[in-house]
Amino acid sequence: MLTYRLRFVLVFMFGCCISPCFAGDPSPPVDIDRRIAITIDDLPWVVGSDQAWEDRNSLSAKNIKQHHRRLIGAMKKAKAPVIGFVNEGKLYSGDLLQKNRLAMLDDWLEAGFELGNHTYGHVSLHDVGLQAYEENILKGEQQLRPLLAKHKQTPQWFRHPYLRAGRTLEDKAALQTFLSEHGYRIAPVTVDNGEWVYAFAYRKILAKGGDNKETLARLRHDYIPYMVAKVDFFEHASINLLGYNLPQILLMHANELNADTYGELIAAIRAKGYRFVTLEESMRDPAYKRADTFTGRFGPSWIHRWALAEKKPKAFYEGEPVVPQWVLDLAEVESE
Ligand SMILES: [Zn+2]
Repeated sequence: MLTYRLRFVLVFMFGCCISPCFAGDPSPPVDIDRRIAITIDDLPWVVGSDQAWEDRNSLSAKNIKQHHRRLIGAMKKAKAPVIGFVNEGKLYSGDLLQKNRLAMLDDWLEAGFELGNHTYGHVSLHDVGLQAYEENILKGEQQLRPLLAKHKQTPQWFRHPYLRAGRTLEDKAALQTFLSEHGYRIAPVTVDNGEWVYAFAYRKILAKGGDNKETLARLRHDYIPYMVAKVDFFEHASINLLGYNLPQILLMHANELNADTYGELIAAIRAKGYRFVTLEESMRDPAYKRADTFTGRFGPSWIHRWALAEKKPKAFYEGEPVVPQWVLDLAEVESE
């Protein structure tokens, strides 16, 4: 039973409306809407360079195809909507379009998932400037647009690489106009996370070969609760900021780690009471009409952008789960 005192504390903590509680009710009547959209970036696969497809020591076209099949299989089985964001440059070897890589994208559409544009070359707006960025967006739909047309769709969603969305309000406004003119909407992220660090570590261990089952299992085992804790954190942050839990948007990548854990991760988020929805459904929430006025160097969660605009105190941001040091060490990265 949720006492009035606890209800008061929760309301105070989260600034939210908590539905009335009845004496003897065994389950806490905290009525939270839990919806989340899954977005997977860097399609057809996270590769550092074109050579990665041919690298016999770690990834190879054959290995990538196998990982890709496992990911698609797990996504189908999980029965949750997903949108993937494409870097079209990864479809080419030199100037040559690789049909087998294009076919990987078709697998997504055949399975009923959506695809969006993530620029041709995974470029940062903050590095290349607005004009080159816009060119890279258009270059990034040369194959995507006809591919979607085959499935009676058009490109509708754009995701900024690194979530870097502009250093000035002028650039942001100009990019917004450009995207609208080309039929795109910006796909924000609310549940930002360090999944990529786990994935780096996982790939490095896989690449080493040999007897590494324990380390791989440890990474998989730690990754799931880490991601669930991130969802929890942004649920609380949303309630704290908006007074309710907005339909969240989770960022992940097309990598070996997710090929091996996708089903388990989705089940764990479902067990928290979440229902999986399309990006479009999440975006119907009025919170997403809020302006993104963040012009910092990096790419934080949209919840944090809105909180920064409201000048929330430091305490608002505290308690965010971090990638543990042993994972950073395995990934050989200094920080998230
Ligand atoms: Zn990306």
